[in-house]
Amino acid sequence: MSRFFSGRLSALTPYTPGEQPQDRSYIKLNTNESPYPPSPLAVSGASEEAKKLQLYSDPDCRSLKKEAAAVLGFSEDELIFTNGSDEILNFAFMAYCDAEHPAAFADITYGFYPVFAALNGVKFREIPLCENFTIRVSDYTSSKETLFIANPNAPTGIVLPRDAIEEIISSNPDRIVVVDEAYVDFSGESAASLIKKYENLLVTRTFSKSRSLAGARLGFGIACPSLIRDLETIRFSTNPYNINRMTMAAGVGALKDTAYFEGNLREIMKTRQRTEEVLRGLGFTVLPSSANFVFAKHPKIGGEELYLKLKTCGILVRHFAKERIKDFNRITIGSPKEMDALFAELRRILS
Ligand code: PMP
Repeated sequence: MSRFFSGRLSALTPYTPGEQPQDRSYIKLNTNESPYPPSPLAVSGASEEAKKLQLYSDPDCRSLKKEAAAVLGFSEDELIFTNGSDEILNFAFMAYCDAEHPAAFADITYGFYPVFAALNGVKFREIPLCENFTIRVSDYTSSKETLFIANPNAPTGIVLPRDAIEEIISSNPDRIVVVDEAYVDFSGESAASLIKKYENLLVTRTFSKSRSLAGARLGFGIACPSLIRDLETIRFSTNPYNINRMTMAAGVGALKDTAYFEGNLREIMKTRQRTEEVLRGLGFTVLPSSANFVFAKHPKIGGEELYLKLKTCGILVRHFAKERIKDFNRITIGSPKEMDALFAELRRILS
């Protein structure tokens, strides 16, 4: 750290992204990317836009808003686009948390929430999940803080039914509830339509997982128009060109290609079911997943040891050192071939 770094940030511990090693080729099951490439419509759209990169992108994201409104069934003033959903989550901490409105989220959830809280000087409380890693709804209905709920949760993959989410939102109309739906397309339990009923709900989503665009960095928010205006104030006060031309066109292409999107979802969910069955057959405890990953532990081998053994044979999974979950690994659902390679290595390691 230099002597010039703001004292306000000197204690900040940054988020640790999943490994993206360049030293050799790995089967990457560690950052919940899609095993399938982007839709050809996304690729051709982005390539065309590459020819116009001398020009700024549209700060109002009109093409993307129009397409998303038509495909997702919201109006354009209920949508905002960001550089990955990480950006809108940061905006939400900036907009809806301060000394009077501290944040609260689960003890086991997306690791970026405490980092965004620290970055924005926001106090936060971690609410312990139940023994079986589910949310106890009464902990949330009784809280006064701005809530951040990943649903399905990460890294557990467990989903909270929509009714329970609604109970939390409606229990206190005077505080904001942010529902992070990064993995919602693999679960079918979205709270997004509730924005028509509740002005204290912000739903965040991403093109990174189900639409195969992690490298393009495209996320969005769905909320009533007044919340969207708050978030647009922040977007225009930081970087109005946060969605570059190529990403904007890739997003439009991905939205247009419904058949490709739905086909990939079906494949991933089918592979997820087979993965759960095979892992259970090998003696793993696997939490019930509604996402594009599973969270699993084995009684005979520690989480870190298994992660390291898989890494030496070219397979990356994600291990978290946090005490409560250190026996587990989070394994992204890859292609059937990638999962077969994983199962073969697991059989070898466990025998
Ligand atoms: N929320 C959750 C729960 C996640 O796991 C991730 C992926 N790391 C994100 C948000 C952010 O994803 P992105 O910025 O790629 O949209």
